[in-house]
Amino acid sequence: MIPVRGYAAQDARSPLAPFQFERRDPGPRDVQLDILYCGVCHGDLTMARDELGFSRFPLVPGHEIVGRVVRVGNEVKKFKTGDLAGVGCLVDSCRTCDSCQEGLEQYCTTGNVQTYNALEKDGKTPTLGGYSEAIVVDEDFALRIPANLDPAAVAPLLCAGITTYSPLRRQRVGPGKRVGVVGLGGLGHMGVKLARAMGAHVVVFSQSDRKRADALRLGAHELVVSSNPEALAAQAGRFDLILDTVSAVHDINAYLGLLRRDGHLSIVGVPERPLEVSVLPLLIKRLGFSGSSIGGLPETQEMLDFCGKHGIVSDIELIPIQGINDAFERLQKGDVKYRFVIDLKRLA
Ligand code: NAP
Ligand code: ZN
Ligand code: ZN
Repeated sequence: MIPVRGYAAQDARSPLAPFQFERRDPGPRDVQLDILYCGVCHGDLTMARDELGFSRFPLVPGHEIVGRVVRVGNEVKKFKTGDLAGVGCLVDSCRTCDSCQEGLEQYCTTGNVQTYNALEKDGKTPTLGGYSEAIVVDEDFALRIPANLDPAAVAPLLCAGITTYSPLRRQRVGPGKRVGVVGLGGLGHMGVKLARAMGAHVVVFSQSDRKRADALRLGAHELVVSSNPEALAAQAGRFDLILDTVSAVHDINAYLGLLRRDGHLSIVGVPERPLEVSVLPLLIKRLGFSGSSIGGLPETQEMLDFCGKHGIVSDIELIPIQGINDAFERLQKGDVKYRFVIDLKRLA
């Protein structure tokens, strides 16, 4: 076994604190990574505080991992020692169900294995995430990192990037399409960059005017203040797709009114309570309304390659692991530009 230092939440109310644990020695198909960087997703905060009621403690969060390969099993083909590799939200799946066969492991029908807060397929070993110095993962669940991108700023692509890329692609975003991105946080700012690179006209919906200059710098054509009813009304019926990344309970019905006939509202945020949906706008404009969960391994690699080609990374604030509790407080207040990334080289 490999001794590993990390940071864990021991229960829903305690701050994250140093925690020692062990990972398996790499098997024939495994790669062992020294973790260099791990992004801080809002989902990490949600799980550390048990807001959805199914957290397993001790909980080591982190599913936006970039590391250096330090050991490979003898059957590994994709990586060699010294390569950079990424690990996102999944570390295993059944590999045989329809979803897995289609490369949609996030929708595995018999249960995939999340990078943390889950059990390995042995049914007893808890998975522990990237707020730690090393991880061992099957090479099929490790991603190649484009060489031209800053590895620290790549880390958030492993969750925030793919979670926005996947619904944008599924809704065939491209030139001539008008896309709204609701909430300019970690996911939202990636949604803006990706939709812009796909050729769409991009409009950010933010709670205030505060992020206007940033939104335009990130690639948006406009920012609309979502708390201003007249500003929203001026956008009525204009959008092909609205991608909602908001992490809290909010009124989604206002956005249904902004869609054209056959427009689509895609929700990726996870509010802690159910949302109310007014069905009439769905009927009278034949709207689509769907959720979307991260992305499968092939699409995640496609997204990373797309980002490599277009020079896209996350805007990050690099922090030492010792600053994680302050970062959680700031994330809760929406005070981050636009993703915290932990520098795990400074764990010692
Ligand atoms: P984040 O960085 O905190 O961004 C969320 C943004 O939502 C904020 O920046 C803010 O944008 C807006 N917002 C926050 N509270 C709001 C409120 N009360 N009313 C309206 N807008 C509000 O979080 P994130 O990491 O991007 O994650 C966003 C959500 O996606 C979380 O719920 C997370 O758990 C979820 N998530 C889902 C998946 C998936 O697979 N579907 C994957 C990863 C994360 P403005 O300041 O611009 O208004
Ligand atoms: Zn995430
Ligand atoms: Zn499966």
